[in-house]
Amino acid sequence: MGKFPIADAEISKIWICKKCKARNKAGAEHCRSCGYDVLRPKNKDIKAKK
Ligand SMILES: [Zn+2]
Repeated sequence: MGKFPIADAEISKIWICKKCKARNKAGAEHCRSCGYDVLRPKNKDIKAKK
């Protein structure tokens, strides 16, 4: 959970195309921009350096 719960909720809805990095809705099967079918969820956890 980040600082802003609302932002977290919004970010968790976004999937990023691995090819063109366009933002897509969660649950999208294909990129709406280029049609590529490999999407990843946008990182919700920012990794702190230890
Ligand atoms: Zn794409």
